[in-house]
Amino acid sequence: MTEATGIVGEFFSLKEDTDAELLAMQCGDFYEFFGEDAETVSDELDLKVSQKSSHGSSYPMAGVPLDDLTPYLKALVERGYRVAVADQYETESGHAREIERVVTPGTLLETSDADAQYLAAVVDGGSGSDPRYGLAFADVTTGRFLVAEAADTDAALTELYRFDPVEVLPGPDSRTDDDLLGTVRERIDAALTLHETEAFAPKRAAHAVREQFGRETVERLSVGPEATAAAGAILSYVEETGAGVLASMTRIQAHHGDDHVTLDATTQRNLELTETMQGERDGSLFATIDHTQTSAGGRLLKEWLQRPRRALETLEQRQESVAALSSAALERDEIQDTLGEAYDLARLASKATHGSADARDLLAVRETLAVLPALAETIDSTPDLAESPLAEIVDRPDRAAAAALREALEDAIAEDPPSTVTQGELFQYGYDDDLDEVIDRHEEVKQWLDTLDEREKRQHGLSHVTVDRNKTDGYYIQVGKSAADGVPDHYEQVKTLKNSKRFTTDELEEKEREILRLEEQRGELEYDLFESLRDDVAERAELLQDVGRALATVDALASLATHAAENRWVKPDLHRGDALDIDQGRHPVVEQTTEFVPNDIRMDGEDRGFLVVTGPNMSGKSTYMRQVACIALLAQIGSFVPAKEAEIGLVDGIFTRVGALDELAQGRSTFMVEMSELSNILHTATEESLVILDEVGRGTATYDGISIAWAATEYLHNEVAAKTLFATHYHELTGLAENLPRVANVHVAADDRDGDVTFLRTVRDGPTDRSYGIHVADLAGVPGPVVDRARDVLERLREEKAIEAKGGDAGEPVQTVFDVGNGQFRGPANADGGAPNDTAESDDIDPETEAVLDDLEELDVNATPPVELITKVQEWQEKLSE
Ligand code: ADP
Ligand code: MG
Repeated sequence: MTEATGIVGEFFSLKEDTDAELLAMQCGDFYEFFGEDAETVSDELDLKVSQKSSHGSSYPMAGVPLDDLTPYLKALVERGYRVAVADQYETESGHAREIERVVTPGTLLETSDADAQYLAAVVDGGSGSDPRYGLAFADVTTGRFLVAEAADTDAALTELYRFDPVEVLPGPDSRTDDDLLGTVRERIDAALTLHETEAFAPKRAAHAVREQFGRETVERLSVGPEATAAAGAILSYVEETGAGVLASMTRIQAHHGDDHVTLDATTQRNLELTETMQGERDGSLFATIDHTQTSAGGRLLKEWLQRPRRALETLEQRQESVAALSSAALERDEIQDTLGEAYDLARLASKATHGSADARDLLAVRETLAVLPALAETIDSTPDLAESPLAEIVDRPDRAAAAALREALEDAIAEDPPSTVTQGELFQYGYDDDLDEVIDRHEEVKQWLDTLDEREKRQHGLSHVTVDRNKTDGYYIQVGKSAADGVPDHYEQVKTLKNSKRFTTDELEEKEREILRLEEQRGELEYDLFESLRDDVAERAELLQDVGRALATVDALASLATHAAENRWVKPDLHRGDALDIDQGRHPVVEQTTEFVPNDIRMDGEDRGFLVVTGPNMSGKSTYMRQVACIALLAQIGSFVPAKEAEIGLVDGIFTRVGALDELAQGRSTFMVEMSELSNILHTATEESLVILDEVGRGTATYDGISIAWAATEYLHNEVAAKTLFATHYHELTGLAENLPRVANVHVAADDRDGDVTFLRTVRDGPTDRSYGIHVADLAGVPGPVVDRARDVLERLREEKAIEAKGGDAGEPVQTVFDVGNGQFRGPANADGGAPNDTAESDDIDPETEAVLDDLEELDVNATPPVELITKVQEWQEKLSE
């Protein structure tokens, strides 16, 4: 194979120098793939394979036209390939080719997707038992660059999940971390790339960061060496892949976890922030509240949702803007219409710095720069808006510089420029004197050519004359067949067609040469002018990002205002205390599709810090708890909330867990996962956190489950002291309220007066009075005798009476007892003689047994916590065995 010479040989030798899986090599007007690459590309993208012979061997070959490479690159990268692109250039002795770029998921500039496209690096700097992570995230399409730190693997995964990168560069020590990498591959679905280890070396990385962002950067960020290493590795990778967008990365920001609400990966998923459990975008919280007009606005709003804030001032500022915009409906419409004219400035800035922006892109920059003063005008002329923080938001970018750039572009780019930048017609007349001269001359010759047909007709008395040009014949005079014999002598025939003949003349040929020369001249001149204009724009990348950010912020705020106004959401009262008080709250997503029954919640740090939520299946427990979490989260992005009134103490984290049984139904979780997630909450949550536990403990046998739920409750109450909502169908847990001061019971009410269960969807204080499982069985059509018998069994279980297991050997009832201690049936009672048995009336009972029986009769099972029951049973057993 490597013996190949010529083009194929060149291909294989370039291929050896790159770690990319595929190579596209320019050969004239095509990019070609050879050998296995040709076959892979043809399989993936349905390209035709032909054979290229080279010195007696034959190689598969597939190619795409030069201008069509982009969509193919995109498709290959989206399928997970890294693709090297080698361009051809002229040398004194002919052509040479060199790899200019390696296109990977995280460095693909040609995206049309509105979402952010993060490239991430993760560096583990701690020791085995004490991991400490540094992370960096960069979006080459917008120039956004962030670093973050995480104290453990879970926290690192949380950040990764939040940014949802498309490509991850694990640092040297993270490459063997199967926990981390497995999750990245499966949950986050990111490509993993092993970038050279030297790029992660602390000194070299810090140097790269200083070079890119300025000398003080590393100190200013005040992040550890791991985060700096991650940032440096990303810079080196972006440079190495040749994306050429480093110039658009003008700023680096530290994402400090303590400004933000901790929202672990499972919670982001459970609350369906950006996609539903089924993986759909529709029906997510983001899709529900998103009314943004621009893709940059949409990206920002999503970022807010994924990174809620704890800074009261920031949130109150957003609220003020939302309030002002939600009441000024007309002006809001106007603002949104204006925003509709805006393009994605951050993306355009990246394209300009990369050198791939065309004249239409610069036109888009110009039009978008005009949006800012238009917004400012609407805002300034509306008192409510002018007094809100919106005025400051649109004033933050350098307005004068933006106006200057806009004017520069206004005088330059033609109104409807072509998408190619090499063939002229990009500029307005008057932009450049030299260019004007060429244009004048060009127009003159064009004019001469345009009127040639009329002149020829007149001068030579010809009819049916047209003048045109095509690729093979160049310019020609076409004369209809009937008149073709009468053409003057100096006409030179070039072609005979069915109904006409084509001629040329010396003069026409001369003009043709001139116009070609002028076209070439114009193309080159305009291209040079364009490149320098594009460089001017590229130098303003930071300004463009500032303006883009301001527009996106207004867009996101207007979107929140629109949703609040249309759905009668209210401004929550935010404070730093413990109280969470929501009057007639609704679930922000469910209310869109359902006649929603509003519900209150009242929590505080005193006697209502931990609510045990009971109620029948399907009554609305899960919805209620998620509604509370969503409202808290919305409040902490500065949004209004679905309620009549809300007072919300800021939380530092939201944690939700759904019991394995509920998740299992969706084929996802196991009890092990449920428990490790519970463990994570017990470790991470603080007294300022909001914890939502939904049927946790249900994934195992009943008594196991109760015990775990019980113990977790005690721990959350006594040690963590987090605000907690715990939905359970373990009725036993409601007893906790009597012993633990901060625990209170609430239940979702149901009405079963007619023997049917009607869900009222109303949450009330106190525990639910019974289990409704049997009602549901009845409703579901389980045969009458089974339902009746189930009621009977339940009754006896409740009263801890013996149950007769029907259908023993002789057809006679066999008696057994359900042992609360080990969760098993014991029996037959008489056979081992150890069990209390209230149906076994017998004369020779000793006083010990008598006492036990009395004790048993008196005991109120419903009012006694299981732990106490267990102790009691043990006591009885001891007494009986004496
Ligand atoms: P549970 O967790 O108690 O089994 P869910 O929260 O899953 O119950 O709710 C069951 C159904 O009831 C869901 O389809 C949900 O949309 C609906 N629902 C829940 N709460 C309300 C409410 N307040 N108003 C209207 N429908 C509700
Ligand atoms: Mg539920």
